[in-house]
Amino acid sequence: MEQKRTEIAQLGEFGLIDRISSKFPLQQPSSLKGIGDDAAVIDAGEDVLLLSTDMLIEGIHFDLSYMPLQHLGYKAVAVNVSDIAAMNGKPEQIVIGLAISNRFSVEAVDALYAGIKAACDNYKVDLVGGDTTASPSGLVISISVLGRTKKGNEVYRSGAQDKDIICVTGDLGGAYIGLQILEREKAVYLTNPEMQPELDNHEYAVGRQLKPEARMDIIYELADLNIKPTAMIDVSDGLASELFHISKSSGVGVRIFEDKIPIDENAYNTAVEFNLDPFTCALNGGEDYELLFTIKQSDFEKIKNHSDIHFIGYVHPDAKQNVMITKGENVVPLKAQGWEHF
Ligand SMILES: [Mg+2]
Repeated sequence: MEQKRTEIAQLGEFGLIDRISSKFPLQQPSSLKGIGDDAAVIDAGEDVLLLSTDMLIEGIHFDLSYMPLQHLGYKAVAVNVSDIAAMNGKPEQIVIGLAISNRFSVEAVDALYAGIKAACDNYKVDLVGGDTTASPSGLVISISVLGRTKKGNEVYRSGAQDKDIICVTGDLGGAYIGLQILEREKAVYLTNPEMQPELDNHEYAVGRQLKPEARMDIIYELADLNIKPTAMIDVSDGLASELFHISKSSGVGVRIFEDKIPIDENAYNTAVEFNLDPFTCALNGGEDYELLFTIKQSDFEKIKNHSDIHFIGYVHPDAKQNVMITKGENVVPLKAQGWEHF
């Protein structure tokens, strides 16, 4: 008998997640939301707990030839906190799983944990446990985060409605552009170790790759302004991919405007220098860890002058129509490339 073999790449990450989640119907009444959002939502009386996990693998998610361990530690916490922010919650505790080889010294582990500590202090999160094990060669760091919010205050990907305004924080594409610079400098260094890296004019984009920040500041500001987004997700895989998640979960379509996509001027210039289209970087690059959310039109007045929230388009009822209006006023279908690790 010939065994059937399907490549994981054929399904893709999201296909694989759907395949797994379809086999695990929720059994506990306290499991309010399982797989399919930025974090799971668990009933805790007056509150809900938010639970999420993220794993970073050497050689896939980071390259230690240009990622300092301290930054890696910080980033590993920040990307988890970002998922709690995306649920409109506050992070409270993390646990860390670490697999590490004897390639790393105690001082290297100290550097990693110095970054973790800086992030814990910044986001007011407690490190409460974990597991450390040997690894044959590479470094693997897996963090799970527990967050909390008042029941009913949590925001899902599924709440976007017709006529809602689509908002995104900060700027997009920078982290991907930064990665391209770091990869280029690494290639140059490998061919000629005498060469010094030329990162001077590209600090912003490189910083976006090495030192991402979860946008908890925005979550606190929205709460102060009494705004509860109708849907929200963090931008980890690229704007287009995240818009598709909101479209699919909410059963609505999105219409965005290319000229409204926020791109930092320095990152823009760097992209052009590298022959990259800055808008493609913003749409498909990922790792920006900004927040993408939708608001009711009636909330627009309260944030219309916010310097770090950008209004990029509208929600409409047709879930099959996810489009972008280009600067030349052409209507083009959005394409989500998502991620391609498999
Ligand atoms: Mg997320």
